[in-house]
Amino acid sequence: MQKRVLVTGGAGYIGSHVVKALGEKGHEILVYDNLSTGHRESVLYGELVVGDLCNTENLAKVLKDFKPDAVMHFAASIQVNESVKKPLKYYINNTVNTLNLLDLLVKNSINDFVFSSTAAVYGMPDKIPVKESSPLIPINPYGSSKMMVEYMLKELSYAEKNFNYISLRYFNVAGADERGRIGQKYKEATHLITCALKAAVGEFNRLEIYGTDYDTPDGTCIRDYIHVNDLSDAHILALEYLFEKDISDVFNIGYGCGYSVREVVQAVKEVTGIDFPVCEIGRREGDSPVLVADSSKIKEKFSWKPKYDNLSYIIDTAWKWEKKLH
Ligand code: UDP
Repeated sequence: MQKRVLVTGGAGYIGSHVVKALGEKGHEILVYDNLSTGHRESVLYGELVVGDLCNTENLAKVLKDFKPDAVMHFAASIQVNESVKKPLKYYINNTVNTLNLLDLLVKNSINDFVFSSTAAVYGMPDKIPVKESSPLIPINPYGSSKMMVEYMLKELSYAEKNFNYISLRYFNVAGADERGRIGQKYKEATHLITCALKAAVGEFNRLEIYGTDYDTPDGTCIRDYIHVNDLSDAHILALEYLFEKDISDVFNIGYGCGYSVREVVQAVKEVTGIDFPVCEIGRREGDSPVLVADSSKIKEKFSWKPKYDNLSYIIDTAWKWEKKLH
């Protein structure tokens, strides 16, 4: 059934892929994005309103006019290392802005909400792969800013009988649209696969490995890389679930397979065929040594079936996109 969906941050990397998936399903979409890191041309479906979440007057008007059935909330600051240096930016953009958004949703009786959360809420989990029931002990302000929203959502859903949400805790999202229309494009790249591709294409003169003294088999951090299209599909399933049921829930979303920084760098070299320079430097602040998802809950509840669970394929789609940017 066609629904009206407001997507904050829908011009950004992940948001634009979810907008694409929503558009393909025939939903009516309104993207609300300040274009600080997003791009007008990334919005393949629906209408774009350029606006800031902190402009609550504007946001209230947009909600009143569009009357969404649901809101999917992607707009956020997302760099772990920056969050250590500028914590208040993260608490304002991620926590305070979401608080104001939720306040407006309650006032306007908009009761279905999908939230972009993160594996960073776990910090340094004791058990790998990590389950949703693992304690939330973030080790950087990015993770804390998202954890606080999860607390608000949980308490709000208890207090407001009709309000339901799904939080999706993303692991490391990468890759691009298979047709090369949208992909990751930030003013300053910080994510590993993108940085390695930029080293391959010659935009960066080398790839820096942040820390080789972690307690992992090769000394570098291990992450669970998931293709952005599989992540988008999970969002559609989450939304449909909210429309059908009056239940709130939290899900991990990853493949359950960890790759070290060195393994990713090697895979990027193989996919691109370019032996770009790599140098090992010290640890980056805020990084957790190992984050790998146990995603059995979302597989069971939503019958989510990943289609692109292949690191080379992920890198290949990102490589095709990266080459287009040059
Ligand atoms: N990383 C790296 N060099 C880079 C970018 C990232 O060694 O140029 C490492 C980073 O320290 C972390 C892993 O790659 O251990 C994944 O980092 P990314 O920023 O892609 O995602 P995060 O896990 O921080 O969300």
